[in-house]
Order: sequence, then C-alpha cells, then structure tokens
Amino acid sequence: NLSVTWAEAWIRQCVDVIADHRVELITLDRDIGDGDHGENMDRGFQAVLGKLDTLPAESVPGDVLKLVATTLISTVGGAAGPLYGTAFLKAAVAVAGKPDLDGAAVVALLTAARDGIVLRGKAESGDKTMVDAWTPAVDAAAAAERAGATPVAILVEAADAAEAGAVATEPLVARKGRASYLGERAIGHRDPGAQSSALLLRAAAETAE
Ligand code: ADP
Ligand code: MG
Ligand code: MG
Repeated sequence: NLSVTWAEAWIRQCVDVIADHRVELITLDRDIGDGDHGENMDRGFQAVLGKLDTLPAESVPGDVLKLVATTLISTVGGAAGPLYGTAFLKAAVAVAGKPDLDGAAVVALLTAARDGIVLRGKAESGDKTMVDAWTPAVDAAAAAERAGATPVAILVEAADAAEAGAVATEPLVARKGRASYLGERAIGHRDPGAQSSALLLRAAAETAE
C-alpha cells in the first residue's frame, strides 16, 4: 500500500518533472493557447515545494494532496490553476484520513481528481483538454483494480493511458479553453494540459515503484 512517504515523493517528483518540461509545455501552449502553461505549472509546483516542509510529521496522503490543492489554486492562475486545484482537493477528500492507500483507494483518488476537473471545467471526453488524459487513466486504473492489480501496477496503467490520451488529443478540434478559438487550426497539436496531466500521473507511478 502507498503511504504518505509515497505521496510526498510523488509531489516532489512533480516539481522536478514540471521544471524539466517547462519549455515543452510552453511550446505546446504557444501553438494553441497563450504560451504560459509551462510557466504557470512551474510557478505552482515551486510554491508547493516551498510548503512541503511545513507538513506535520503525522500527515497522511490526503494532507499532502490538500496542501498541493490550496497552493496550486493560489499560485497557478489561468485555466489550469482552478482545474488542478479542484482535482487535488477532490482527491484529498476521497482519501481523507487514510494512512495508506490500497488499490481501491488509488482508484478513488484518481476518479475524484478527474471528476473535480469535469465539475470545474465542464469538458467532455474528446474536447481536447486535460480530461482526455484523465478519463482514460481512470478507466485503465479501475480495470486494473478489478483485475486485482497492486497500487503500483494500477498507477502504471493509469500513466500509460494518460500518455496515450495526451497523444490522442493531437488530431482533435478543441471545444473548451483557449484552443477552442482556433477551430481547425488546433488540429495536429497536442493539448498542453493533457500533456502536463500525463507527466503528473507518470510521476505518481514512478515514485510508487
Ligand atoms: P490558460 O489557458 O488560462 O492560459 P493554461 O495554459 O495554464 O491556462 O492551461 C491550459 C490548459 O487547461 C489546456 O491545455 C486544457 O488542457 C486545460 N483546460 C482549459 N479549459 C478547460 C476546461 N474547461 N476543462 C478542462 N480542461 C481545460
Ligand atoms: Mg495558457
Ligand atoms: Mg494564460
């Protein structure tokens, strides 16, 4: 099962991965948005890094997720700030109080995060948003859990599906967010939020192993 040590390692890995992919996310958002997604995400996760040390020693995974949520909401801005903030907040609530997470709890965490994004942004699958990474991830995680997979294996399935989902946004026309103003000109470009979502979920899997 996954403990608070994993939750903290996951988030530290997110900080590093977002910093490493800052330029890539900026470039994707420059193609079909306003070019700030890498900047927004890096600012948010650097702020998270500054706050991780304030977590009490007796924290549980949900406390880490809650800290991430409140920090991202207040520092990321744009569309992604409230969306990721809501995702982490709903995920925190889904696993609140649990000292460690079994497969069902991991699926509950991911499902709540995705549902939070949908609640906040009202995007459907195929709208060329971060939902197109999260929904395949949740579906793959739930299928793996039903098949008896471990939490680690569930997260690997989720990350694989999120990456495939991000790639699959490339041929789509956007129906939500700034990219929707471009119509057919968005075709051929990957959605930046789907890409950052895939990075965050890969970090979750890597730190669980
Ligand atoms: P902004 O568009 O305000 O500059 P960002 O560049 O940080 O914000 O984030 C853009 C990303 O937010 C998009 O690539 C997309 O994945 C996501 N996004 C935008 N609107 C929505 C929405 N309504 N629902 C889900 N995701 C959305
Ligand atoms: Mg942007
Ligand atoms: Mg912006």
